[in-house]
Amino acid sequence: MRVIRYGNPILRKEAREVSPPYDGKKEFIKSMLDVMGDYNGIGLAAPQVGVSERIIIGSVERQPYPLINPKILYVDSEKEYDEEGCLSLPGIYLEILRYKHIVLEGFDIDGNPVRIQVSDLDARVFQHEIDHLDGILMIDRISVKDREAIRNTLKKIEDEELNEMKKEIV
Ligand SMILES: [Zn+2]
Repeated sequence: MRVIRYGNPILRKEAREVSPPYDGKKEFIKSMLDVMGDYNGIGLAAPQVGVSERIIIGSVERQPYPLINPKILYVDSEKEYDEEGCLSLPGIYLEILRYKHIVLEGFDIDGNPVRIQVSDLDARVFQHEIDHLDGILMIDRISVKDREAIRNTLKKIEDEELNEMKKEIV
């Protein structure tokens, strides 16, 4: 399992809902947690490891929190900019506007339905990871002008990813 990067079409697909039994994803989620640790990430979405399913690792009180079929139930109107990175966009850090407080529901690693309320960085991580499930990357949330400024870096990541994909096909 590796983290795929910008340029890989899987990142642009809408991920499919997981069907029950939800606890059947435990081993896969453990692998995701391992990979996330290897890359020193604070969040991860299944499409980033090449699996187009609605599974993410978010963050609750700064600890990794896996969530299956996550849905945002409620957002507070308050928003804030802060710097974000993404394992699929290595070396790129961008100021992204996100909701400060959100309430989510989904299923935990044991397949139990959960409802959680998170704020600040935790809320940011969940919003970022849920975007991945809809094929949205943080570069889609900046201005055209700001995207122009990172064009060369994006091109480099894309070229590296396409090379890596070619190796996997062979
Ligand atoms: Zn990301």
